[in-house]
Amino acid sequence: MNSKTKGIVYLVGAGPGSPDLITLRGLQCIKRADLIVYDRLVSPRLLQQAKKEAEFIYVGKMPDRHTMSQEEINRLLVEKAMQGLVVTRLKGGDPFVFGRGGEEAALLAENELPFEIVPGISSSVAVPAYAGIPVTHRGLAAGFTVVTGHEDLHKEESDLNWQALAQGAGTLIILMGMGNLPEITARLMLEGMSGETPAALVHRGTEASQRTLTATLRDLALKAEQENFKHPAVIIIGEVVTMREQLQWFENRPLFGRRIVVSRAREQASAFAEKLEALGAETIEFPVIKIAPPDDYSGLDRCLNMLQSYRFVIFTSENGVNSFFNRLAESGRDIRDLKGASICAIGPKTKEALELKGLRVDCVPSEYRAEAVVELLKERIVPGDKVLLPRADLARPVLAQELEKLGAVVDNVTAYRTVRGDGDVQLLRRLLKAGEIDMITFTSSSTVRNLVEMLTEEGEHAPASPSSLFNNVLFASIGPITSKTAADLGLKIAVEAKVYTIDGLTEAILSCWEEN
Ligand code: SAH
Repeated sequence: MNSKTKGIVYLVGAGPGSPDLITLRGLQCIKRADLIVYDRLVSPRLLQQAKKEAEFIYVGKMPDRHTMSQEEINRLLVEKAMQGLVVTRLKGGDPFVFGRGGEEAALLAENELPFEIVPGISSSVAVPAYAGIPVTHRGLAAGFTVVTGHEDLHKEESDLNWQALAQGAGTLIILMGMGNLPEITARLMLEGMSGETPAALVHRGTEASQRTLTATLRDLALKAEQENFKHPAVIIIGEVVTMREQLQWFENRPLFGRRIVVSRAREQASAFAEKLEALGAETIEFPVIKIAPPDDYSGLDRCLNMLQSYRFVIFTSENGVNSFFNRLAESGRDIRDLKGASICAIGPKTKEALELKGLRVDCVPSEYRAEAVVELLKERIVPGDKVLLPRADLARPVLAQELEKLGAVVDNVTAYRTVRGDGDVQLLRRLLKAGEIDMITFTSSSTVRNLVEMLTEEGEHAPASPSSLFNNVLFASIGPITSKTAADLGLKIAVEAKVYTIDGLTEAILSCWEEN
């Protein structure tokens, strides 16, 4: 097979905004791609699904730099497919609905290069749906029309028949129309559409930051200006807009409109962020910790050399599990060396991580913290038993100390370090100063310590004191130890999880706003 026949371009619709609204086929194409060429409005979470070695090229608008022209993009796709690459071209919504996908496909066809069109959920129908507006409805609209609002309405010969649009019976949906909103509404009224026609604007539909404005056609442009409504938005005009009163659902979610900071390490942040977003929150990922290998592996390696001698191996975090097994593999061993030991996990996530490695977990305490592990093992430990504790460098000493009191011989070794994460300090300071953050979440003591350290250090927008930054911000904590660290640093925890897991924390966050 020559390289030319191997290359292919998938023109994929990424959906209207929320990363969950891509098709299965679209996701397959992302995972398979050697190169991903993507636009603005494509969710970063989708890009994270690509394989590790994949390359990315951003071809969207750039305010301060040269923006690639459509011709350049077309040529780029041809060139990369000719090199034999699997190219996934990701576009917002559907690739053939104002996506210029047709032009890209045409040049590929001309060059006899293989391509596939993967349709996407277009914002033109999905965004109204998320605002609770059905684009057709028996008795209200027997059809809908989707048009661009981007064209010059003063042009002598418009590509659109505005009279037909104004006098048509169905719902009118306008994309890319925010820049021309006053002209569009005036033109529709001029051509005979009633100024009383119900209308809506939906900004960033399907995303946590969705905003909807409803008005009559006559008042729409003025109201949009007053409320500073901006691009990107879908304009919906027609009687169906009234259905929203009854069918509004997305914006009714319990955490809708809340901005919540997730401070966990990047690898773990998205699962938590997705839970909060499913409840309607907008999340801001600000990783304050990062998992790094220990400075020195000699402690862990010594223990790995005598794994058979341990009666218990206790894992106190998912990171501990992953770091331990990475090193085990690096040293040419595998799980068979753990045959003799009882395996204990501090909580359900740690247990899951162990099971993924093919191990059966012998015990999990009912409460997910060190003290409960001691309680659980009290009955089982016989003086002289060897216990291995692969942990973080900063872990509390209490577990090892208490087990030693029971007569165990404990090897408390560093399997990983938590170092400072790469959260965007300037951005978070700016959002906090502007009062745009509702809550900050802490999932461990080190998240508290690092967040305070990062936010208060010198630099642009540096605060006079931490408290001056945290006006009106609520803090949520995963459990009592984390809360205590926060209190010691002068932060007052508003909600604490009853069950010390991410699900428990999510529950607590929900209850916090239910009560208030
Ligand atoms: N191919 C895309 C449309 C591209 S044109 C699709 O099928 O959805 C870009 C326009 O789409 C924007 O100007 C805006 O009008 C609309 N749009 C796309 N995503 C949107 C979103 N999440 N919320 C509101 N409008 C959106």
